[in-house]
Amino acid sequence: MYAAKHAHTGFMVYDPAVDQHSPRRLALLGGLRRALERDELVLHFQPKADLGSGQVLGAEALVRWQHPDHGLLAPGEFIPLAERTGLIHPLTRWVLDAALRQAAEWHRSGHRLSIAVNVSTRCLLDPSFPDQVSERLAAREVPADCLMLEVTESAVMADPARALDVLGRLHAMGVKLAVDDFGTGYSSMAYLKALPVDELKVDRSFVGQMSSNTSDAVIVRSTIDLGHNLGLRVVAEGVETQDAWQELQALGCDTAQGYYLGRPMPAADLDRWLGAASPRPGPGGPGEDKEASGVI
Ligand code: C2E
Ligand code: MG
Ligand code: MG
Repeated sequence: MYAAKHAHTGFMVYDPAVDQHSPRRLALLGGLRRALERDELVLHFQPKADLGSGQVLGAEALVRWQHPDHGLLAPGEFIPLAERTGLIHPLTRWVLDAALRQAAEWHRSGHRLSIAVNVSTRCLLDPSFPDQVSERLAAREVPADCLMLEVTESAVMADPARALDVLGRLHAMGVKLAVDDFGTGYSSMAYLKALPVDELKVDRSFVGQMSSNTSDAVIVRSTIDLGHNLGLRVVAEGVETQDAWQELQALGCDTAQGYYLGRPMPAADLDRWLGAASPRPGPGGPGEDKEASGVI
């Protein structure tokens, strides 16, 4: 029922992969607390670059679970469980701290990258969240404007007044804010105008089909115009090809993230990637395909 409601269809065909009570899910749920205690979570980082110059501006931290039996698990397998159980709070604290520790290391080695962290609904609605962020920034000695927090439209719309309060306090601290997966949730233009955000991330479902689907191309173009008219930077997610890169560049989109530039990868690989002399994508240079084993 939850899934049907979530899908806004009123009905769902039974799918064991969606069943929160399936044996695998229940086993994962039991293991998640242990995973946090035993440091089984790992962060991968996916670069973001300026579409015009190809300059790498930052990286998004994406969590994975190095499961002792099941190998490297993608967030889709365990973030929904963490959200349902409240474990999302300690998990987010862990991700935030690990991401800021890595950002501090990159800053020390001369790469002043901005680091993006995903924030789920429960954390966005937690009045103590801004203080937790402030405390971690101070502990890791990272300037607030080098942290970008990504929230979804649905998370904001779950309780707009509370979300606006938390976002307002984060913004006042100097933390940057982005609306993730833009276009996939329900949001009201009135709230979008009121949100103290810096960036809109166009969902990859539109960017991926942009070249072959006219409606998707219209959505991408309109989102870029909307973002710019509201004074925001616009990031295209899921840029997989040189054609998409060039099309987005022609449309005046600001930033790109996607497999064409680089896949999410462990910090050490991103270090090497940053230091490599190979040209970044853009007019001319091809992107690197980081399809190394253990990278998801
Ligand atoms: P997201 O924040 O929208 O992250 C982008 C997702 O798109 C990542 O999937 C990334 O691997 C994938 N992606 C990036 N470029 C491309 C591309 O060119 N093509 C395709 N097909 N995919 C691409 P991932 O890592 O599986 O993460 C899925 C979602 O899980 C994230 O979506 C985010 O909503 C959530 N997530 C990840 N890490 C965290 C976290 O630390 N906390 C929370 N609350 N959620 C997280
Ligand atoms: Mg994100
Ligand atoms: Mg996204």
